[in-house]
Amino acid sequence: MNQNPNIHFLSAECYPAAKTGGLADVVGALPKYLNKLGASVFVFMPKYDMKWFRDKQYSEEYRSTLQLGRKYYNYVIEQYVGDELGFSLYVIDIPGLFDRDGVYADSKSGYFFQDETERNLAFQIAYLEFVKTWAVLPDVIHNHDHHVGLIPFMMKYCPAYQRLKTIPTVFTIHNQAYQGSFSWSKKDLLPYFDPWKSGELDWADRINPLASSVKCAWKVTTVSPSYMQELKYNSYGLEWLFNSEAYKSVGILNGIDDDVWNPSADEFLDHKFKKNISSFKMANKKQLLEGSQLDVKVPLVAFIGRFASEKGADLLPGIMDTAINAGVPLNFLILGTGDKGVERNIAYLTQKHPSRVVSFISYNESLSHKIYAGADFILMPSRVEPCGLNQMYALRYGTIPIVHNLGGLKDSVLDMGYKNGNGIKFPNLSLHEIGTALGRAAGLYSDAEKLDEVRQNAMAVDYSWTKSAQEYLDIYNSLLS
Ligand code: ADP
Repeated sequence: MNQNPNIHFLSAECYPAAKTGGLADVVGALPKYLNKLGASVFVFMPKYDMKWFRDKQYSEEYRSTLQLGRKYYNYVIEQYVGDELGFSLYVIDIPGLFDRDGVYADSKSGYFFQDETERNLAFQIAYLEFVKTWAVLPDVIHNHDHHVGLIPFMMKYCPAYQRLKTIPTVFTIHNQAYQGSFSWSKKDLLPYFDPWKSGELDWADRINPLASSVKCAWKVTTVSPSYMQELKYNSYGLEWLFNSEAYKSVGILNGIDDDVWNPSADEFLDHKFKKNISSFKMANKKQLLEGSQLDVKVPLVAFIGRFASEKGADLLPGIMDTAINAGVPLNFLILGTGDKGVERNIAYLTQKHPSRVVSFISYNESLSHKIYAGADFILMPSRVEPCGLNQMYALRYGTIPIVHNLGGLKDSVLDMGYKNGNGIKFPNLSLHEIGTALGRAAGLYSDAEKLDEVRQNAMAVDYSWTKSAQEYLDIYNSLLS
């Protein structure tokens, strides 16, 4: 057993370099906490043509050319020179594929890039070509989400990477809805592999990187225990696979990065938390609602997130309209982007009820911090929630989560009906049950004493990474022993 393993993380996102959601938050925080426990983590990610990457200094580590079918791409692997991240970061620069302003989609038009398969493969091949030249190989390679899901297969079955064959691999699923599958007609984009092992790539007659990793990785994790269970009976056709690989699968609840999400020291807040929760909340709420027609005395329910069906964002206009028409004393604030229809409906609702709804159709990191601090409630009507970080950030900032009781929301929020309760849960995703939950929220706000108690319970919950990082370290050590 090696108490100080060398771990390589591979991910398409890493905060603060490039973020579209929780994947970035986890990959930007977990390595730091693993390092504090004695591991050495190196994060590898693509180098995008995005703001964070532009004014940084790097040292060149490797330069080569990779082949994707009949095309060749020159690439350079650089190590970021700054030391503020708390871990080593390598960026893989592949002109023609990653030198774009956006992680998965063009930042201006919002349209998804059409060469996802080629980009993901190039990133993975570039990494494998580089790492196979290292004198001392990593102890464990830890891959995050389908973008790097073919690594375990290639390490096992591509002759080019035989040197890496015995390195244990861990695959973490942050979001199973995205699997990265592509047609077998593109199989020649992969380096030569043992054709007898094709089945390890296949799911439903397509090459499926997520399914392949579940088959080939030494250990599979998801970002909450309940989500791991849910995948066994609801995983877009992969239920059988998750059942058969259950023996090597485990759910570990995500943590939150206290350096970034700390109400007493948050660099995005003008009004930081000192001692009194209600004055902290009110000062931030006033600032948040400045310039809008919303009354600060009315409880504020916020939503932050991708406008995707998993998040239940399509339900928001109906929820808000119904609550307002029914006279429920709540106002709403929405921050998000995504589905254009949802964007339009939310913009329409904002126009229809300008004194009750305010919305920001954008991605705005700094505003999100201000919302966690200034809102009274955060609403999460998710259809699927692998872990969910919003509710954890909300709790940390004394904002009461109103959540559908599933996945990571089930594991991290305790209904206020229970002792030490810190949130409001609804068991089913219906307008009726959400309406009841909103009614409970309005009732709670009108009871100052109870509100203070629930806020205190919320802020007292400890979801720091330390415990979960230890669980990952235990996994690495169990694979090495
Ligand atoms: P996801 O499924 O999108 O990864 P998570 O709850 O795991 O969901 O993580 C969402 C993260 O993205 C949180 O840090 C949240 O604050 C952030 N986020 C989502 N949408 C936006 C937005 N429009 N502006 C700023 N931050 C956002």
